[in-house]
Amino acid sequence: MYEFAVEPAITQLRRPGVIITEVEPESLAQELELFPNDRIVKVNGRQVRDYLDFRFQTAGETELTFRVKKTNGETLDIEFDREEGEDFGLSFEQIVPRQCANECIFCFCKGNPDDARPSLFVRDEDIRLSFLYGNYTTLSSITEDEMNRIVEQRLSPQYVSIHATDLKTRAYLLGVDESRADISRKLVRLLDADIELHAQVVLCPEINDGKILEQTLRDLAGHYPKVISTAVVPVALTRYNTDERLTRVTPAFCKGTIHEVDKLQKEFRKTLGTTFAFLGDEIYLKGGVQIPSRRHYGNYPQIEDGVGMVRSFLNAFDKVLNRRYAEAQISGNERIHAAAIRPQEKNPAATAPGSGFGTIITGEMFAPVLSEQIEKYNVLTGSRFHVLAVRNTYFGGDVSVAGLLTGQDLLKIRDQLVGDFVIIPTSIIKSDEPLLLDGMRYEDLRSQFPVPVFDLDTQGLIDFLANKKGEPE
Ligand code: SF4
Repeated sequence: MYEFAVEPAITQLRRPGVIITEVEPESLAQELELFPNDRIVKVNGRQVRDYLDFRFQTAGETELTFRVKKTNGETLDIEFDREEGEDFGLSFEQIVPRQCANECIFCFCKGNPDDARPSLFVRDEDIRLSFLYGNYTTLSSITEDEMNRIVEQRLSPQYVSIHATDLKTRAYLLGVDESRADISRKLVRLLDADIELHAQVVLCPEINDGKILEQTLRDLAGHYPKVISTAVVPVALTRYNTDERLTRVTPAFCKGTIHEVDKLQKEFRKTLGTTFAFLGDEIYLKGGVQIPSRRHYGNYPQIEDGVGMVRSFLNAFDKVLNRRYAEAQISGNERIHAAAIRPQEKNPAATAPGSGFGTIITGEMFAPVLSEQIEKYNVLTGSRFHVLAVRNTYFGGDVSVAGLLTGQDLLKIRDQLVGDFVIIPTSIIKSDEPLLLDGMRYEDLRSQFPVPVFDLDTQGLIDFLANKKGEPE
């Protein structure tokens, strides 16, 4: 999910057009004497609202006229030709998201502490961000113009939070009346126009589980392949979610859900050739049930929604182990097990200079999985990485994923670090500025740690373990 910069989203007054933020040197745009802060308001006589419009209205066009508002107030019409497919060399301001009109009982905004960074309180519901970044929308307050835009500009696929096809249940969850919650005609219209959808169900025990969930998944599967997949993710309640209508997700609930959905998944694989309905990784981890195989996830259609991330990580990690295994010149087919500690003198890599000695920080949910892999890695390479599970006391409640750890949580575990450096997950740092979820600046966190802090995403960690010895870069 894309988290946008909050300041422009909330405070900026919208004027027509899209603002240029960068002009590449020696590009067509530079030749046309376009500059940062110029605003393109029309392309070939058609209004431009944002960079998606710009992209749509320039696509395939070689003869163009831009109406441009310069920063001095002057308006220019710039006529020019370009080669087919020639890039303009322009970057634009980000999209200012439209806000939702729902009152979902489980809304993440209600689970934030008051001092969480402001962007966490923004309730975006925007079909453009859905298309561009896979952000989910409910479609419950989508306008006619937006519907037309999806179809006209082929903003496909869209990511839609369905939650339940039972109307009463959906309205209850969204906190709106049934007429607003009813998106059946909108869905048909989009599907008839060949717009593809990915669906999501935020699973709330005793509300949209059991028969309601089964019906929802069957209804959605009835639209396969235009509805490509459905993610079922558990509601995550922080200690600030005190709504009595909500029930927390327990290991027993997860196990029961896996059992029920497994039957449907088998049926869908038989009839549709795809698992179609995917359970979030958290459900398997919390239920203590083995993560499904690579084949279960196909091309990982919902990985950004936390579905299949663990399987993808395990498979990538296996490759790292195999590579290190080969490097260590240990015979090929032998399985590695954490318990199978080898004497170091038999393992050439184990005594290599610069072998890693540091702490890898993650959330409590993923820590057992990561620990098991890192132990194998340590045995194989002689490294001394230590996985440290950090409790999320900032959000509290059921929140145990790595991506929601805060600066305050990390500072609390400083005395448990071992080694020469610490690796933290990149996902806890805001993408467009070095800020943690509780508003702490990344540099402030770093300055309070006794050892250097590196941030790596999952792929970065895999690459580091695959290629490097010593410290990350
Ligand atoms: S759609 Fe619901 S969960 Fe999403 S931001 Fe709006 S109120 Fe919150």
